[in-house]
Amino acid sequence: MSNNNNELTLSAPLSGPVLVLSNVPDEVFASGTLGEGIAIDPLNDCLHAPCDGVIIHVARTGHALTIRADNGAEVLMHVGIDTVELNGEGFALLVKEGARVSEGQALVQFDLDRIARQCKSLVSLIILTNGERFELRPIAGKSINVGEPLLQVLARSTASAQSSVDNSVAEASASVRITHRGGLHARPAALIRKTAQDFSSQAQLHYGDKSASCDSLMGLMGLGIGEGDEVRVTCRGKDCEAALQALINALSVATKQEHHTPILTTPRHTSHEADVLQGVCAAPGLVCGPLFRLSGIELPQDTGKHAPDEQLQRLDVALEQVRSEIRSTLTHARQRKNVEEEDIFTAHLALLEDPTLLDAAARAIEQGNAATHAWRDAIQAQCAVLLALGKPLFAERANDLRDLQQRVLRALLGEAWHFELPAGAIVSAHELTPSDLLQLSAQHAVGICMAEGGATSHVAILARGKGLPCVVALGAEVLDVPQGQRVVLDAANGRLELAPSEARHAEVHQIRDAQTLRRQQQQVQAQLPASTRDGLTIEVAANVASSAEAQVAFENGADGVGLLRTEFLFVDRHTAPDEQEQRQAYQAVLDAMGDKSVIIRTIDVGGDKQLDYLPLPVEANPVLGLRGIRMAQVRPELLDQQLRALLQVSPLGRCRILLPMVTEVDELLQIRQRLDQLCAELELTQRPELGVMIEVPAAALLAEQLAKHADFLSIGTNDLSQYTLAMDRDHAGLAARVDAMHPALLRLIALTCAGAAKHGRWVGVCGALASDPLATPVLVGLGVSELSVSPPQIGEIKHRVRHLDAAHCRQLSQGLLDLSSAKAVRQACQHHWPLS
Ligand code: PEP
Ligand code: MG
Repeated sequence: MSNNNNELTLSAPLSGPVLVLSNVPDEVFASGTLGEGIAIDPLNDCLHAPCDGVIIHVARTGHALTIRADNGAEVLMHVGIDTVELNGEGFALLVKEGARVSEGQALVQFDLDRIARQCKSLVSLIILTNGERFELRPIAGKSINVGEPLLQVLARSTASAQSSVDNSVAEASASVRITHRGGLHARPAALIRKTAQDFSSQAQLHYGDKSASCDSLMGLMGLGIGEGDEVRVTCRGKDCEAALQALINALSVATKQEHHTPILTTPRHTSHEADVLQGVCAAPGLVCGPLFRLSGIELPQDTGKHAPDEQLQRLDVALEQVRSEIRSTLTHARQRKNVEEEDIFTAHLALLEDPTLLDAAARAIEQGNAATHAWRDAIQAQCAVLLALGKPLFAERANDLRDLQQRVLRALLGEAWHFELPAGAIVSAHELTPSDLLQLSAQHAVGICMAEGGATSHVAILARGKGLPCVVALGAEVLDVPQGQRVVLDAANGRLELAPSEARHAEVHQIRDAQTLRRQQQQVQAQLPASTRDGLTIEVAANVASSAEAQVAFENGADGVGLLRTEFLFVDRHTAPDEQEQRQAYQAVLDAMGDKSVIIRTIDVGGDKQLDYLPLPVEANPVLGLRGIRMAQVRPELLDQQLRALLQVSPLGRCRILLPMVTEVDELLQIRQRLDQLCAELELTQRPELGVMIEVPAAALLAEQLAKHADFLSIGTNDLSQYTLAMDRDHAGLAARVDAMHPALLRLIALTCAGAAKHGRWVGVCGALASDPLATPVLVGLGVSELSVSPPQIGEIKHRVRHLDAAHCRQLSQGLLDLSSAKAVRQACQHHWPLS
């Protein structure tokens, strides 16, 4: 392609539909953080050089490389999204770093199907990484083939590339461990660069004997930093401290937990029982009801003599209607933080803008076809292409296309297509689409069964999220079941019972009714206080994180708020709340609770809890670092501000203050003293009650001394388990073992209660153990008198309390302290106090 010092035309390195960056399903790329560029959804499996040049960087994992063109423009090519996680599998590099290549030369061969199956998306990026020197002009059409002109690169005038220089000599530096999954590859490197650009200081990363400026994406990637590696950050300039802190935060962000759905094999209707179809469970549950067969829209024959302009306009209107529906579904999904739903509908939105589809439909309309038929045929042609590939993941993409086919047809036909579900229907279909599922759920379907489909499909994911029992892969027989036939769907076992006896029907009804009734009864009683059979009242309060949750807790019968986690009140903010805002937030929680008391815990950040507006120093072992009340030692003004806000709520008598992560009596004494000073400053005569959390073994061991100076103790079993058992409370592999029913924990709880009793103080539990009905008798038996539980469980725990005998609990719980494990404790509890 033509090439002089200023101008260069890049040719397409891949074939496929072309996307603008903002439509790329990845926030970092889409926001342009990495630089300007364009994306291609590849249909071929080889990346080619877009111009003559030198390969200046190759990702260790082969999924990305950067070429420097002869005019100096640097172009990053990144195959797929999140492909770093494949760790090189499925990529064959055909060139080495430093190689000189010619335009069109094959650079990387990749396994298209594997990426589609294992990664977020195949969409591949072509990004200009030194945008300060060059700018881009797209010249491609909607779809492109390897070698065709894609982008024009123009040199910027030197004046605009100048940036202001910070000549200050102040310097700050620190070391940090990289937590980004897969190390400092393109996306995290882009975040680092973006962070650095917000400051005037010059920032550099040093790793081994290499250094790179944080301004250079290529430089950063070129350091070859892997996950878990330690690097040094230096910042020089007036704002070096702030820049350093921001960079450290960006380099050590918590990596998000990936949820991998297990892939289930599909045993096809292999049941040997008569009248039972066997499929695969996509979402568990047991339901019975009439079967409602849902079929897609069938269009009548087309005359083929329509006015193209009018039909094109109809299609445009329908497409825009569906896009805006999807956008609003997306907004809701984001508000509910439902990532799965968000991913599915983001993909749908991209498909609705796919140039191949839109062009095909437009061509058919120009030949006189109706918009409905043109759209149907365009989708069908694409589905055929995908299905011909014979690969399961592409087949699922075809289902997404069929979904859009139906939605746009529905929009085109207006009221002409809609269905009314009979009450309590179990819906059967060949294969449902995600939007069908949302509609069915809104129309109160009680179960879903499909002839086709996989347990990993989008529909399955949505059904699980909605708690809607769903079985897939039942085979075509399910479509022959007569409309309205009464069936039983035993989704957990993948069974559709076609001819359940009256007795079976009755049994299913009975199981479900019993569940519903139990819940209803518990709800009615939930408003009343809960006392054991021998008359010991146990306060069942709620753990909340906002006034809205407090409202729900109050409606569910909470006897008070046992724990307001104040760090969650302001978690979405980028700026610190001032005293006034804090006071209003605490007051709102008090107001939501009628005349009940509210325990407000002072801010507990650090460890796994971070606030944007309160960057904390990076620590080698944050869970053992500056957490909870220890923060008050380094940032006393923060605690002062919070205490002042708390002291101004009214009535103050309903507000109790709770201190997290206390490890010694002096901490409590200092804060009590400070609280007294603040009360004097505010001319208050009343002092709020002050309690201490027992969540480190040291506090449990010192409970008696703490109780002497505290008004109450509240046991945080989550952290107490973590610190007693030396097991990370977020460790997926240890999840089953971080169990507060461990005899060591029970001993610490017993010790806490005994210590508190010596000074006439009460003990509550606000960790997750309080919400576990199996533990209720043990906690009551060990001397706990308040349980702070999650709001939906108030009725259940109160119900449990009412069926206990406290004296009996006291007697039996002592024996549990000598058992050999948490499992043994659980078995004994189940034996002594069975859960119905
Ligand atoms: C606990 O540790 O049990 C507790 C209630 O505090 P958090 O879960 O907020 O750490
Ligand atoms: Mg805690």
